[in-house]
Amino acid sequence: MIELENVSKIYGSGDAAVHALSGVDLHIPQGRIHGVIGLSGAGKSTLIRCVNLLERPSSGRVTVNGQEMTRLSGPALNRARHRIGMIFQHFNLLTTRTVFANVALPLELMGYKRGVIKERVAPLLKLVGLDDKAGQFPAQLSGGQKQRVAIARALASEPAVLLCDEATSALDPQTTGSILELLRKINRDLGITILLITHEMEVVKSICHRVSLISDGQLVEDAEVGDFFTSP
Ligand code: ADP
Ligand code: ADP
Repeated sequence: MIELENVSKIYGSGDAAVHALSGVDLHIPQGRIHGVIGLSGAGKSTLIRCVNLLERPSSGRVTVNGQEMTRLSGPALNRARHRIGMIFQHFNLLTTRTVFANVALPLELMGYKRGVIKERVAPLLKLVGLDDKAGQFPAQLSGGQKQRVAIARALASEPAVLLCDEATSALDPQTTGSILELLRKINRDLGITILLITHEMEVVKSICHRVSLISDGQLVEDAEVGDFFTSP
């Protein structure tokens, strides 16, 4: 479950202030795939980064899995973030680590022992279809394979929620299709709630249950995908 209540974000101050988000309300029930679509500069990145507090809202309240994120800081915030996975447009893999070691990283940071890590990473690599690539380095992989590694890494800490920041924008249409298929499977089989932001209508059409339109930092429409794309 993801809930934003009256969330605003202002970057800078005075004459240089940018109102990136203004009074955003959004409620996403557990198990849904929700898309936020909008033009470049509309506030999509800011919105998704306010969910796990990579950006701290200037005002308003963010609640994820029943926990009020905006009240947390320090170690408590870090623990809450383990229940929120995130993937990015440019994958953000560590180039000096193998596929296995990239996926293992969150588990290492959480203090798990090597044996436990091995037991957890193997099924994740299988889930994303990369069990034969464990020893490869990111530079040896295609874009789609890199995003699969990033997805496995995001799932390592067993999150209830997955945030996708333009996750298919760097991929060709065919690869985009296969990554969206994987996200759909993760939602369906693991029950993980997905919030994705994109500037691509096709992405929303193909996997989202519901969609919000963001413009100039405000949510201006919110509808079930079937209704959103039905012409009057
Ligand atoms: P989108 O993801 O839809 O492209 P962003 O959330 O990245 O939109 O940006 C929304 C607005 O906030 C834009 O005007 C952008 O330039 C501005 N912005 C984003 N991040 C920062 C920042 N760290 N400092 C100042 N302005 C920012
Ligand atoms: P993306 O669309 O993938 O978020 P961007 O190039 O928009 O990539 O942003 C990359 C980083 O730069 C983000 O951390 C964002 O907050 C920051 N950023 C974006 N716009 C601005 C801006 N106008 N001033 C300062 N930082 C910005």
